Amino acid sequence: MAELPSTARVVIIGGGAVGVSSLYHLSRAGWTDCVLLERNELTSGSTWHAAGNVPTFSASWSVMNMQRYSAELYRGLGAAVDYPMNYHVTGSVRLAHTSERMQEFERVRGMGRYQGMAIDVLPPDDIRRHYPFIELHDLKGALYDPNDGDIDPAQLTQALAKGARDMGAAIVRFCPVTGVRREGGEWVVETAKGEIRCEYVVNAAGYRAAEVGRMFGRTVPMMVMSHQYILFDEIPELAAWTTESGHKLPLLRDVDVSYYLRQEKNGMNLGPYERNCRAHWASPDDPMPEDFSFQLFPDDLERLEHYLEDAVRRVPLLGTAGLSKVINGPIPYAPDGNPLIGPMPGVPNAFEACVFTFGIAQAGGAGKVLAEWVTEGATEWDMWSCDPRRFTAFAAEPDYCVAKGLEVYGHEYAIHFPRHSWPAGRNRKLSPIHDRIAAMGGQFGAYNGWERANWFAGPGDDVSEDSTQTFRRDGAWLKRIREECHAVRDAAGILDLPGFSRFRVEGNGARQWLSTLITGAVPRPGRIGLAYFADDKGRIVTEMSVMALGEDFFFLITAAVAEWHDFEWLTKHLPEDTEIAIKNVTDAFSCQILTGPKSREILAAVSDADLTLPWLSHQSCQIAGKWLQLVRVSFAGELGWELHSHVGDTADIFAAVWSAGEPHGLKPFGMFALDSLRLEKGYRAWKGDLSTDYTVLQGGLERFVKWDKPAFKGKAALENERQQGSAKRFVTLVVDSPDYDAPYMSTLWKDGAVVGETTSGGFGHRIDRSIALGMLRSELAVPGTGVEVEIFGERYPAVVQPDGPIWDPSNERLRG
Ligand SMILES: Cc1cc2nc3c(=O)[nH]c(=O)nc-3n(C[C@H](O)[C@H](O)[C@H](O)COP(=O)(O)OP(=O)(O)OC[C@H]3O[C@@H](n4cnc5c(N)ncnc54)[C@H](O)[C@@H]3O)c2cc1C
Repeated sequence: MAELPSTARVVIIGGGAVGVSSLYHLSRAGWTDCVLLERNELTSGSTWHAAGNVPTFSASWSVMNMQRYSAELYRGLGAAVDYPMNYHVTGSVRLAHTSERMQEFERVRGMGRYQGMAIDVLPPDDIRRHYPFIELHDLKGALYDPNDGDIDPAQLTQALAKGARDMGAAIVRFCPVTGVRREGGEWVVETAKGEIRCEYVVNAAGYRAAEVGRMFGRTVPMMVMSHQYILFDEIPELAAWTTESGHKLPLLRDVDVSYYLRQEKNGMNLGPYERNCRAHWASPDDPMPEDFSFQLFPDDLERLEHYLEDAVRRVPLLGTAGLSKVINGPIPYAPDGNPLIGPMPGVPNAFEACVFTFGIAQAGGAGKVLAEWVTEGATEWDMWSCDPRRFTAFAAEPDYCVAKGLEVYGHEYAIHFPRHSWPAGRNRKLSPIHDRIAAMGGQFGAYNGWERANWFAGPGDDVSEDSTQTFRRDGAWLKRIREECHAVRDAAGILDLPGFSRFRVEGNGARQWLSTLITGAVPRPGRIGLAYFADDKGRIVTEMSVMALGEDFFFLITAAVAEWHDFEWLTKHLPEDTEIAIKNVTDAFSCQILTGPKSREILAAVSDADLTLPWLSHQSCQIAGKWLQLVRVSFAGELGWELHSHVGDTADIFAAVWSAGEPHGLKPFGMFALDSLRLEKGYRAWKGDLSTDYTVLQGGLERFVKWDKPAFKGKAALENERQQGSAKRFVTLVVDSPDYDAPYMSTLWKDGAVVGETTSGGFGHRIDRSIALGMLRSELAVPGTGVEVEIFGERYPAVVQPDGPIWDPSNERLRG
């Protein structure tokens, strides 16, 4: 057994599939001075008992990327590291009971095609071609994914371990990590076998990640579910068929009922994600045992009955088999069901690769992503969906984690509709006027825990969850969003927007320092401007509004969900021995948007502000005796102001503006209307239109680049791109689609070839057209070019618009 070395460049805590894959990928990147510490034997956490399914299917682009990479890696891994293993690429059949499910399949087929995977969508009478034993009742069709399969999780882990060891990495088993401390800019990892010093540490402790996180002072947002599958005895008919056909059945997933059914040797394996599911170790009366290595929970067959009965009706062959074994093991869940891969928030040189619900399917890709984070500080693909910083402090509260974990597990296969807000774990962060907004009909969504009105229902409107279960552009909300947009266009609208992230940056040299971080100019005192932060490759890291209050005094304002991400980007780039101080003051302030042609008259009635100050200016003023910062901007693209005030003053300011506005036709509007309004202006949204998948120039943001600045992050790469030309360009498209708008990552076609992708889409109620923002091959990014947008499998004509906004192209209304 390997001895504990005294130093290493990276220490990984946890020897499941994910930790070992991280070690393998670090070694492949040339970082072989790495050590993995495992408290028991490799795989002893969740990995040993996993069913080993390796799907590539995902409705998330980045998760699909990760799973596709895993499947490709696993195909060649045995030969690459000389460790033969059982990996069966059987394909899979995913059943649809509804037309919305078929639409989801069509969208995923398009994304898969874009990633180089052939995926098929089948009508019901074609399903038996792939799965002869199936009954076809209640089915609308299926998705056939030839890339799906299953792998032996222990063999996978051992193969990765062999590959890593052969390259020089070390694995020390039966070596629990008991603590960590920071000393002289290094980590000292304390274990039962002694201490080890290192530069970087990775928490890959699976369902024990919270325990390990606490050693770093980090509360990991997670909980643990119990997940079961049933193994059945050999089925003679299946054995005969397998011998005759020479292959196994594809994996069957009945996602609308919520289970998978897989051939396991000549028997079957049935694994449901039950609605009546169970959390474990979720309260102080039920603590996680000191050691649970290679252990299982007791069987809980009652929970599985409904799914078993359904599966027997679907595949009657199953009814002929005896039940041989139940596996019920711990499976960790983050509040959105995605894993945590990336920098450990607030902790230097520490990373997370933990809380995986599909850790076998994702281990390969996760190892690649983690190794990139550690060795390069950035990843090839934008991995925000798995970034630990997407959750802030509230999301680590145990009751929130449990509520969300139960919800996500019970709806593991659910379709995510664009207008649907999941109900669990709500009302965590409320605006002081939440009740007033609710009384006005506000239908809320959670934004980094902050409740904001998505839209305002009128009397008799259907506000049920069912009404949102559609991709179609219809429902009560459509009419109301339209009314809200028109109120903003014709009179004025007000939107209460709690939770904008806000950082106070102050001190000698702050202006100069900011100038080296953003691509554009730093605004002068009294002005506000949009700023883009690029990485060294010129890719878009984030966008913030920079409000200059003095020569070296700024407020940086950014999306609610970007709070920890952006704060870390700023603090990470702060020079040593600086006088510049950065403070996160998000919770102290709030914001209301007042916008529309009547907004000046409304403000004039309640404030002493100079309302002739131009667009992109700001000033202090009072409303209802409360001080606020009045900022002349509008994400809706109309005359307007943002009212930034202390949280405690929100109610008085809202009340005053509301009373003054009512005679002018002031209406409340919500986030859905704001999204429609910003699309018409071509304003980008973070982590859709703006991500590290694109450079600042590809994003069409050249007007925010000040080339004559001596230096800024990303400058060299962007200059190079400017000389070479960008491969793709940001475009605004008007789409001729009567019933649907283009979701994120819909493919763009020209003359039968795929030429780009959408980054967001929706309906513009001021222009009465469907709009998509996206990336198109540069030579086609010419106004007037006709392309097609594939939306749920149908192609619709679309036309590239002139650069700049579709609505009010010369910004006259905005500047009015
Ligand atoms: C019944 C069931 C079926 C499943 N089926 C599938 C499937 O088909 N496909 C799929 O993709 N996923 C499946 N999963 C999920 C899968 O098992 C996990 O996502 C995956 O195993 C997670 O791997 P990991 O490396 O992150 O964690 P783990 O395998 O749990 O590894 C973490 C390791 O960290 C070690 N550790 C913890 N604390 C310390 C410490 N202080 N010091 C040192 N070491 C420590 C533990 O001993 C453990 O070995 C299933 C899960 C269950 C319960």
